[in-house]
Amino acid sequence: MQILAYGLPRLGEKRQYKSLLESYWTKKITQTELYQGMDALEKERLGTYATYADLYPACELSFYDPVLDLSIAVGLVPQRFQPYEGIDTYFQMARGPHALEMTKWFNTNYHYLVPEWEEPLSLSAQPDFYIRAYRLAQEGGFHSALPSLIGPYTFLKLSKKDGHSLSPDEMERYGELLLPAYSRVLEALSQAGATHFLIHEPAFVLDDPLVPLIGYFYHQLSRFSIYLLTYYEAVDFYPRLVELPVKGIGLDFTSNTANTESFLQYGFPDDKILIAGIIDGRSVWHANLQAKAREIETLSRRVKEIWLAPSAPLFFLPLTKVFEKRIPPAVWERLSFAREKLQELQTLKKYILGDETVWEEVEASARLWESEPLGYHPPTRARVSALTEKDFTRDLPYKERTRLQQALQLPPFPTTTIGSFPQTEDLRALRRAYRAGSLSEAQYKSHIREKIAEVIRYQEELGLDVLVHGEFERSDMVEFFAEKLQGFAITDHGWVLSYGSRVYRAPIIYGDVWRPAPMTVEEIKYAQSLTTKPVKGMLTGPVTILNWSYAPPHKSREEVAYEIALAIQDEVRDLEAAGIRVIQIDEPAFREGAPLKRRDWPEYFRWAVRAFRLASRAQPSTQIHSHMCYSEFESILQYIWEMDFDVVSIEASRSKGTLVEEFKRFPHWDRQIGLGVYDIHSPAIPSVESISAVIEAARQALPERLLWINPDCGLKTRRWEEVTPALRNMVLAAQAAREKVKT
Ligand code: GLN
Ligand code: ZN
Repeated sequence: MQILAYGLPRLGEKRQYKSLLESYWTKKITQTELYQGMDALEKERLGTYATYADLYPACELSFYDPVLDLSIAVGLVPQRFQPYEGIDTYFQMARGPHALEMTKWFNTNYHYLVPEWEEPLSLSAQPDFYIRAYRLAQEGGFHSALPSLIGPYTFLKLSKKDGHSLSPDEMERYGELLLPAYSRVLEALSQAGATHFLIHEPAFVLDDPLVPLIGYFYHQLSRFSIYLLTYYEAVDFYPRLVELPVKGIGLDFTSNTANTESFLQYGFPDDKILIAGIIDGRSVWHANLQAKAREIETLSRRVKEIWLAPSAPLFFLPLTKVFEKRIPPAVWERLSFAREKLQELQTLKKYILGDETVWEEVEASARLWESEPLGYHPPTRARVSALTEKDFTRDLPYKERTRLQQALQLPPFPTTTIGSFPQTEDLRALRRAYRAGSLSEAQYKSHIREKIAEVIRYQEELGLDVLVHGEFERSDMVEFFAEKLQGFAITDHGWVLSYGSRVYRAPIIYGDVWRPAPMTVEEIKYAQSLTTKPVKGMLTGPVTILNWSYAPPHKSREEVAYEIALAIQDEVRDLEAAGIRVIQIDEPAFREGAPLKRRDWPEYFRWAVRAFRLASRAQPSTQIHSHMCYSEFESILQYIWEMDFDVVSIEASRSKGTLVEEFKRFPHWDRQIGLGVYDIHSPAIPSVESISAVIEAARQALPERLLWINPDCGLKTRRWEEVTPALRNMVLAAQAAREKVKT
């Protein structure tokens, strides 16, 4: 029995990865220093692996993104980056002005660079990165390190041509080109001494797998010894999967029950190794090792050889919990981040092999697993279990609500922004000083009030119709609420890569979620006191708070979503009581929480929609807004509609064409909507004409009376010099649109 581990976070204990990359990009270190630093980090990672695991990956420490590494290795470099001249072209492809498109990696918050196919095509392998990385492991004495690559099928599934995913035909056609180049990469690695390969095929778990194509690919590669990993979900073509000519197959046994069912039903061939993804690589919680050992026992009885592995790559988790000092001890002892997962695998193996020294630890893990739930709050539980249909329904239907909301006296094509205004360096300095204790709470708050007053005046001068308070008191839209709600723990060092060198820290939900005191009322009320125009209350929605946090053990996501929703509803009520008439509940992560398999969508959206409705159950006269972005909404308009808000703002500036088309096919859409009229992700200032063009397009698909005018997302990452002219043009375009209504 061996332990195969993979996906250890790249970031490093001291976030060296981030500082190395950023220092190189800002020319503070040389290329040689970058490589030296990365090599040292890789040796640290390999050392960690070697402490706990028998087999682990080489070539895993990408300098930006492993999908990009493979694009380059197989020679898929678009014309605009030719000639490819090493690391600087690499970074151009990753983050230059004409960089590759970036999008979410399966159902995680990691973003990869989309392989881009363009004709005419000829691929020539350039495996230097892998060879160098593999040699580094060899020279460091890490002889159990295997080259680790994304598989050809997943690579094609993640690819695009002309902005579209590849059709099955294209997959087949480009597969013919890809396979020879891919084989040459493996050959080059073989010449460097590699005998076995770790190939990742998470796309095997997606809907509609092209099974014959998969079979073809792996027969083409059958001269290589491959351990094939699947993860994030069950594989729907299990009987064909286990026939593939590979040495070992990894299955995720924690995210689903279907893999176990298939395994029990169809068995597992004797000539292959079962790589059992048994320790949950996505959850921050420790495992019940006794139960895990029993599971392995069941599986072992039906296979010749079984290895232990995490259920998925560990990079979705922070590196280690050892530096966390602020987390309550009862929570801390239950946590297991990436390094602790490796420890669990090691303990599990020892236990199964009969090593008595770990008995106590294993029994303790079972006791802890079964002990009292953390953060138990009976009133919250009671509230959730008392919920009835009425709690998910506003008192009046939309049509009647709009009549009451006319009291807001908004013009046609009302203008607004999404919430945040530029978070400038002086603001960050203020926050740092406050956190460090050199600024008192009273001083900090008074600075924030000044900022609010400024931004209210600013918006009035611009002539916007519905104002916001600017979100200056928030560094992050989820963490801000997590800090104020009960049931959440915040880490100090729990950083995870989101893309490139970008990191985020997700809060951990450990207990029942409830709201001990109002969270936003003071600032919004103050903002409203400064103007006669309506100020939007600004909240983060329950689905987004849940999806951007780590979920608690022993509890369904639905239950947690309702608890958060009730806390948000309390806030809505308090805002109303403070005289706020417009409230926006942001749900940017609404779409991305959807399961990988379409068949699981109705169930997810059922409770996600209900959670939003519960949170937004305001008085009929209160205008409820929502905001969504970062996703493709085409396939989920019906669910969005069911959320029953009054107004929604949607990111549409990059995909507006298709979105507008979709609305044409959705005739019962009757809610107000603000299609983002310009892309806030770009520093470019949108012209009045370009904004008017978006308004015109929206007019083609939707009645004028439903249309709002707003940027496509919050402005916090922009500079004031960019925001001012952009909003000025937006207001001009709105005025022009109103003129047209009159004539
Ligand atoms: N209200 C938030 C903001 O303006 C919304 C952010 C988001 O959609 N990600 O910053
Ligand atoms: Zn947004």
